[in-house]
Amino acid sequence: PLIKTRAGWRKASWEEALEMAGDAFLNAREKHGPQSVIFCKGTGRDIGPWLSRLAYGFGSSEYYALGPGSGSACLMPRMSVTNAVFGGFMVADCSQYFPLRYNDPRWRLPECILVWGSNPVDSNPDGFLGQWIVQCLKLGSRMIVVDPRETWMARRADIHLSIDPGTDGALAMAFLHVLFEEGLEKTGLEEKWVNGADEVREQVKYFSPERASAECGVSAGDIVSAALLYCRCEPAALHWGVSMDMSPSALGTAHALTSLVVLSGNLDVPGGNVIVTDPYGISRRGVDRDLAEDLGKTKTGLSEYPMIGSGVPYALADVLLDEIESGRSIECAWYQGTGLTANGFAEPKRVGKLLARTGLSVMVDLFMSPAADELADIFLPVCTCLERSGIRNWWYQLAAFDRVIEPLGESRSDMEIVLSFGRIVAGEHFPWSGVTEWFDHILKPSGHTWSELCRKGWLMPGTRYEKHLSTAGFNTPTGKIELQPGIMERSGLLPAPWYVPPPSMETGKKYPLKLTTGARNPLYFHGEHRNVKHLRELAPLPTVEVHPDDFPHEVGSGDWVLLESPWGSCRRVAVSSPRIKKGVISADHGWGGHGLNVNDLLASRMQGRGGLGYPFRCLPCRISGPVEAPEEYGDVQESPVVESECIMDVRTIWCTGCRACAVACVIHTGIHGLVVRCKDGEWTPGFTSACLKCSFPPCEAVCHTGCLTAEENV
Ligand code: SF4
Ligand code: SF4
Repeated sequence: PLIKTRAGWRKASWEEALEMAGDAFLNAREKHGPQSVIFCKGTGRDIGPWLSRLAYGFGSSEYYALGPGSGSACLMPRMSVTNAVFGGFMVADCSQYFPLRYNDPRWRLPECILVWGSNPVDSNPDGFLGQWIVQCLKLGSRMIVVDPRETWMARRADIHLSIDPGTDGALAMAFLHVLFEEGLEKTGLEEKWVNGADEVREQVKYFSPERASAECGVSAGDIVSAALLYCRCEPAALHWGVSMDMSPSALGTAHALTSLVVLSGNLDVPGGNVIVTDPYGISRRGVDRDLAEDLGKTKTGLSEYPMIGSGVPYALADVLLDEIESGRSIECAWYQGTGLTANGFAEPKRVGKLLARTGLSVMVDLFMSPAADELADIFLPVCTCLERSGIRNWWYQLAAFDRVIEPLGESRSDMEIVLSFGRIVAGEHFPWSGVTEWFDHILKPSGHTWSELCRKGWLMPGTRYEKHLSTAGFNTPTGKIELQPGIMERSGLLPAPWYVPPPSMETGKKYPLKLTTGARNPLYFHGEHRNVKHLRELAPLPTVEVHPDDFPHEVGSGDWVLLESPWGSCRRVAVSSPRIKKGVISADHGWGGHGLNVNDLLASRMQGRGGLGYPFRCLPCRISGPVEAPEEYGDVQESPVVESECIMDVRTIWCTGCRACAVACVIHTGIHGLVVRCKDGEWTPGFTSACLKCSFPPCEAVCHTGCLTAEENV
């Protein structure tokens, strides 16, 4: 642990650091009330339950997810809509609920999978693994992909709709238009269990494929073909991604796609979209339900934006920042697992300045990030996932993560840190003597102890389909699916699917390009891992993908360029790519500082209607250059592995280019026994002359699509 002094950072013991933080937090609560203290995480994964317990146990509903903070534009828009419509969330059913998986007789193979705004083989979002879709394709599912980039998935799709960024709402409404025009709605569910279908029909009546085509840049013919394919297949599954959350129409788009799943008869049926439940009723919130409901009513942003009361566990950071700017005082802040300004916010410099006004800030992180160095007063070192145990209750399973080594140095696990601090500031909510006892308490509803779960590894409670038939209907006030939920009207929203054009539609002579960002790079996780040498060798520089026809005359592939929007700029290395739609450029995210942060191109207060959603992925933009490389990045070399060293390509069509095999090889053997290159638009792994022909090859063990086999390597 470190404590900041006027002379810089000094080392401290855990006891001293926690005591100092505890005194400040308790003092703030006594003098200014619990809401003067905020608790924040990044995308966080299994940190959420522990941290929300700390916040609510302390008495503060100021619990924020800052990945991203602007518009809570990751999952929350979709979650708030599905929660309002049918009282839960839904995921594509790729048999993940059954231990027998694809062979389980209760499951049906989706005839069609609609992959919308997601490249799951690279992103594996929210516990949903892209390889499940790959397996369905191998078994015969057809696929539609909606993406402005020709991704790995798009290349294998039956129909690829190369949409303009941020126009998903227009396309989704046209799908509904086709559904009604062709009379493809499944009336059984509609008549008995759905309110509001007529209003949806009315709303999309004038949203013809031709009208949508003018908005989203996809031909009307392709829109009709794709809509008919999805609507006629029984069952069909929708896999939707974060892209649609990152537009001003996030809520309207989510409403349109939720309506599509419902009215095409694909909600909660085998091979469609399953309504998810917490395994064994173990909540991912980690805080007692009554406390969450009562205290949750006081969270920042709820009175202005009621939709954050619909299945969203967080307060709204945009409102918090505005309030700080207007004079609200934050006495203490706890940040855990967030790079803060590198990823999570529009106008990151403003955010840094406003959060620097906090009385005392504690940062819990793996590394001393630039944000920690700038903002923290106390730094607490957390250990990696290999050094800590944890419970993961993603929707389909309960899994144990058992540490493989003890924490190195003075680092501690997230849970140990929260428990130690919780005992100081919220003792009655943290009665456990150690983390294992706490885990046993959490696991009680499953009938298993922590050590039993560790021995088993995971538990899968299975699922029931059409749950409304065996319960009191859907989890809504009427027990029915509400396609016109009252909360939307209370939020000032049209209670039916809607669409507003994104800022990128305002491109003109000055800003002729549409900028999208946030496409996942399998080597990094948002702002993480750029300081891991083997990964950095494979992707050393912050890049922007540009269609060959969109390069300014004087700029070539590999040049540093300046990206500018009406609100800001950043530098990038331009990479020529025929896979990106002409007129659209794609800049990778997660690079902070040095004038590289792509979020510098966004302004504050651009959140979507209803407070949720943010146009991270749809900005007007222009490129100019070449420009000077930033000093710290200019001398990073490409990977030393050169193409000529490859002596045998592996014949496969399923390689996703994740490069886990290449990294596993170099970590385990210290040599580059394998390279993965892009040849003719396809990823191709190949063994080099250095390959040791390992008896138990790590490269093979980590391949998620089964491309590499021992036989290949002889
Ligand atoms: S067999 Fe061993 S040395 Fe060869 S590529 Fe695989 S891990 Fe590397
Ligand atoms: S061969 Fe390597 S890069 Fe390709 S999918 Fe397998 S692990 Fe990923």
